[in-house]
Amino acid sequence: MSIQKQAYNALESVVGAKYISDDPAVCEGYRSGPGGYESGLGYERVMTTIPGAVVMPKTTEEVQKVVKICNRYKVAYVPYSTGFYGPRSHCHVENELLIDLKRLNSFEIDEKHFHIVVGSGVIYSPIQQEAMNKGAYVIIGGGGAQASAIANLIGDGWSPLSHRIGLPHRRILGTELVLPDGELVKMGSLAEGSDPFWGDGPGPDLRGLLRGFTGLRGCLGIVTKMAIKTLPFQPEPLVPTGVAPNTALALPQKRVKWVNFQMPSKAAQVKAMFEIGKAEIAGAVTKVPLFWRAIAKAECKEEFWEIWGKETEESIKNFFIVRVLLIGYTSEEQMQYDENVLNDIMTELGGIARPTKPSDESWIKNADSAGMWLMCGSYISVDYIIESLSQATVHGESYADLKKKYTPPLMPDNGDPGWFQSFELGHQGYSEFLVYWDQDEDTTGVDHFYLETAKMNIKERFYTSLLGPHQPLYLTGPMYGPNYHEWLLKVKDEFDPIWVCHPPVPLAHDDFVERAEWMKSLKDWESPKKLPMPKW
Ligand SMILES: Cc1cc2nc3c(=O)[nH]c(=O)nc-3n(C[C@H](O)[C@H](O)[C@H](O)COP(=O)(O)OP(=O)(O)OC[C@H]3O[C@@H](n4cnc5c(N)ncnc54)[C@H](O)[C@@H]3O)c2cc1C
Repeated sequence: MSIQKQAYNALESVVGAKYISDDPAVCEGYRSGPGGYESGLGYERVMTTIPGAVVMPKTTEEVQKVVKICNRYKVAYVPYSTGFYGPRSHCHVENELLIDLKRLNSFEIDEKHFHIVVGSGVIYSPIQQEAMNKGAYVIIGGGGAQASAIANLIGDGWSPLSHRIGLPHRRILGTELVLPDGELVKMGSLAEGSDPFWGDGPGPDLRGLLRGFTGLRGCLGIVTKMAIKTLPFQPEPLVPTGVAPNTALALPQKRVKWVNFQMPSKAAQVKAMFEIGKAEIAGAVTKVPLFWRAIAKAECKEEFWEIWGKETEESIKNFFIVRVLLIGYTSEEQMQYDENVLNDIMTELGGIARPTKPSDESWIKNADSAGMWLMCGSYISVDYIIESLSQATVHGESYADLKKKYTPPLMPDNGDPGWFQSFELGHQGYSEFLVYWDQDEDTTGVDHFYLETAKMNIKERFYTSLLGPHQPLYLTGPMYGPNYHEWLLKVKDEFDPIWVCHPPVPLAHDDFVERAEWMKSLKDWESPKKLPMPKW
């Protein structure tokens, strides 16, 4: 496996011999898995392969040249930032070029106007630290501070801190996108000059082209540079403490503090979220699933199972914690005011404060995301959706019901209905449903469950984030929009008529269902006899 010699030579003349390789050992290093997100599932086994070559451009101009060469020699390519997102970030066709973007590591901070300008190789950890050094902060997803900020913001971009900060789409300011044919689009104020302070326009807001709702997963070009909005924080330092695996940030308690409340019922838990939003206090407000506590306490797989094995359907059903992050954004007095309001709300609702560590392990500068597959080896979020707070708080129960049929191979979890939290001061809600399995076992049931959740959402009329390339486009397309798939395919054909950029996304999941024998029995929706895309 390799790419054509002529194409390879042309690419080498752009980046230099040091930054391109078709060495089988190097290419093998870019195989999806083993272990981690979506690991071992049919999609990974059927749809991914190792690259024919790997190239590492340094600048936007080099990315443009690489992409133009791919178009000239008909070499399919996939953009790749850190690859943490699993199979969907990896090569899907033979002799494909993987464009590793980690050398795009430019970093500028504009303290006065609260933004940071980065290349796609910059991960969140230094962004958060530099922002905090200047009294600002950003949101880091649960995937961790080791993920690319750009890759995260064009697909995801949320955490419990979204209670205050809100939708990720709005934090994308001036951006550079190399289109699938190598042309450069400058978005927002970058279209008019060199100051990236503004993200919208000119004309239509092209940020929809970057991500839709939850991302196009690399099939409509490569973002090489983005200005990201930072938001005012508080001035005290958060100090790293502990020794791995027990590391955390020590919080300055008069300015930043987590408080856990045990609530008497789910109704009180949900009402607390609405009331906290209405009062416009706090930096984060989230449910804590019992499951998280077991993960946080356990230092190894065995210990996790020892702790988790003691839980029952009853203990899970009656566990109602609301975890609140108080931040004294402007002063200690403001923090005290927020705490007084919070205590009033909790007293009315019967919430009891529980001891909480004076530190943060998970959300301000996360480093514990690999714990997500500690229990079984593999994990996926089958949905993570921002909708109304009322949908967010019931969505997980439907998932828990459906999951029973597929447990095992899914990990037994006594009907845990997932996680929900407040978003944008309660104007919106977020829910996420996570499942775990052992990738060395037969995972057919997990593949089936994943697809059946899309049908369940359609039937129950739930909005879902797993649209676009995440599920078969011809299953979700006619039902949402309706017919959003027709628009998505028109946009793809217009900008990438030969589908050179990460084929066969966005029809990859449709293709998977056609190619995997064990998926065929589930196909009960209409689609063209031959999927409308060029063959690679
Ligand atoms: C365990 C786990 C938990 C997670 N929890 C959260 C969470 O709570 N909140 C949250 O917001 N996110 C979460 N995520 C998502 C994650 O943090 C990142 O959004 C994701 O990993 C993308 O960053 P990356 O560097 O891994 O991108 P990659 O894996 O490199 O790429 C992701 C996709 O984007 C494409 N891509 C990469 N770079 C570019 C580019 N420059 N231009 C165009 N396309 C590109 C790739 O082709 C691929 O399809 C989670 C992920 C995991 C594995």
